[in-house]
Amino acid sequence: MRAYAYVGPGRFELLDKPRPELRDSRDAIVRVTLGSICTSDLHIKHGNVPRAVPGVTVGHEMVGVVERVGDRVASVRPGDRVAVNVETFCGECFFCRHGYVNNCTDPDGGWALGCRIDGGQAEYVRVPHADQGLTPIPDTVSDEQALFVGDILATGFWAARISEIGPEDTVLVIGAGPTGVCTLLCAMLKRPRRIIVCEKSPERMRFVREHYPDVLVTGPETCRDFVLRHSDHGGADVVLEVAGTSDTFRLAWECARPNAVVTVVALYDEPQMLPLPDMYGKNLTFKTGGVDGCDCAEILRLIAAGKIDTTPLITHRFPLSRIGKAYRLFETRSDGVVKVAVECGK
Ligand SMILES: [Zn+2]
Ligand SMILES: [Zn+2]
Repeated sequence: MRAYAYVGPGRFELLDKPRPELRDSRDAIVRVTLGSICTSDLHIKHGNVPRAVPGVTVGHEMVGVVERVGDRVASVRPGDRVAVNVETFCGECFFCRHGYVNNCTDPDGGWALGCRIDGGQAEYVRVPHADQGLTPIPDTVSDEQALFVGDILATGFWAARISEIGPEDTVLVIGAGPTGVCTLLCAMLKRPRRIIVCEKSPERMRFVREHYPDVLVTGPETCRDFVLRHSDHGGADVVLEVAGTSDTFRLAWECARPNAVVTVVALYDEPQMLPLPDMYGKNLTFKTGGVDGCDCAEILRLIAAGKIDTTPLITHRFPLSRIGKAYRLFETRSDGVVKVAVECGK
């Protein structure tokens, strides 16, 4: 089968690989119908993910059809359409039982697919702990509607869930890239008084204005003043930092009102300053870390109910045979690309 693999620093190639086999009674083999490209894939390509194994098939955002399951898999059967979770987790350890699946202590736990083990920019993928890692897609939900459920949408959902958003709140979302938009959509579900998006790219600002006209949009230079003018208590009640650039962490806590929650979803390239003397008395609560991607069934229910729609994010479609071109487009952010859908059977 064809598989797009990390062959060495700076190099991904479409290779011919054997089809994956079941290795454990909790595994499933999934025929990938649709995959996507994530910024994390680019981090692997550029050698910024030391635990990525050379030769590994990349890709961790995908949906497909279950082909085969191990004896101990109970939640899905061959023929089921499924969303694949970016995280592998056992469902049994201390962290899994508390919903902190990002910290699963299983040897396969965490971000394994498309990093430490073969992922889904391929015709088939082996998914360990399939009872946790696969979620059936309702019949009324299309592959494109479900494509982001296991990764960026799970991230946005988790971020909104832990941020204690209330109906009186002004919520500031910093960054309107694909994960930022998913976070925005999930924050909207909480129905806060107002949402402000801070974004520097004119194209992405336009995207937010066009699709979510109730959301206020500002740029980073004007953000502090804008938030002051459009909030009731001297800053945002909740800040979600999804941009991860060199000055957005500072912007996040500066725009927060006293006693606000600041949730850092972003992954930074470098350490960030936490100037405690400057923020003394502001009594902020910081929440940080990687997604606990354990709400995929609920997210799919919300999609089926018409409450979340991420399909506008899919701006381009490519067959697997032309995935190199899809990467070039995504990497150079050309042609207004937001997300790419890769048809893995073509
Ligand atoms: Zn990702
Ligand atoms: Zn676990």
